[in-house]
Amino acid sequence: MIIGLTGGIGSGKSSAGMLFRDLGIDVVDTDDLARECIAFGTPASMLLVEKFGNVILDSNEQIDRKQLRKIIFEHSHHKSFVESIIHPEVARKVNSFIASANSVYKIIIVPLLFETNSQQNYQRVLLIDSPETVQIQRASARDGVDQDSIKSIINSQLSRAEKLRLADDIICNDGNLSQLKKSVKKMNDYYLSLSYE
Ligand code: ADP
Repeated sequence: MIIGLTGGIGSGKSSAGMLFRDLGIDVVDTDDLARECIAFGTPASMLLVEKFGNVILDSNEQIDRKQLRKIIFEHSHHKSFVESIIHPEVARKVNSFIASANSVYKIIIVPLLFETNSQQNYQRVLLIDSPETVQIQRASARDGVDQDSIKSIINSQLSRAEKLRLADDIICNDGNLSQLKKSVKKMNDYYLSLSYE
């Protein structure tokens, strides 16, 4: 069974993912995979530099993801080019994760799972849900950015109500980390019971 784990920025996807890992579940984060795809010297990074020039490199010669996001945001016609380079490579890495993972069920973290209409790739979709005020506080503290920047990212993502409507399973992450740990344990028991049915 393959679970797609999603949620808005700062909702607690990575934290929940780590807690599932602690329970022995194989978890991969597509955001990490995308980062690996454009790391220094990869074919994808070279194609991006060829297209956009050195302006997309940071002082360590790595692709500056913020800069890349800015280009896509300001020139929407570049979006499909960038996606055509990164997405197939991420998909390849997800497939090799699925082939090599051997836990009873597996989790793939996909931040924009609903926004990209990719529900059909998963047997169940698990939403990590937090109130927006909590998302804003946690994400701005984590990233060291102002609350308005986080608000505008939240506004560009699907609404909380819509995500709650579309999810198969929901973990509410509005408490402390030990509460999140309990909720993850409970969801793990449920997924194990489904896997052994
Ligand atoms: P996401 O991956 O969805 O963007 P993270 O898992 O990185 O979110 O969580 C955002 C920030 O909030 C991180 O710094 C994380 O440690 C913190 N965090 C997540 N859940 C909780 C919680 N229940 N209590 C306190 N801090 C939390």
